Amino acid sequence: MRKLKFVNRHHLRPTSRGGGDRNNIVYLDSKFHAAYHFLFGNMLKEEILLYLEIVMTPGMTWNHKLLYELQEAVKRRDMNRIQTLVEETELCDPEDRYVR
Ligand SMILES: [Zn+2]
Repeated sequence: MRKLKFVNRHHLRPTSRGGGDRNNIVYLDSKFHAAYHFLFGNMLKEEILLYLEIVMTPGMTWNHKLLYELQEAVKRRDMNRIQTLVEETELCDPEDRYVR
């Protein structure tokens, strides 16, 4: 097996959310690991799937604050809050989608 030079331990379930045992660890290249947490914080992989399904709807416009609120709602499995966020998130005019 090829040895990676810069490898980080990643907890599948964050210790802050109850993950602690050895079976909970994967080893990730450090750049990938940093990118993962930049995008997904301490979400679980099944939460990320739901999050991406909501965020990657064509035409929706998400800013940093809304994405963070959505992450927190997904982690709490707060379906009412998720629904509200989706309804409040404007579908942007196709003309305004790209920064000129
Ligand atoms: Zn990690």
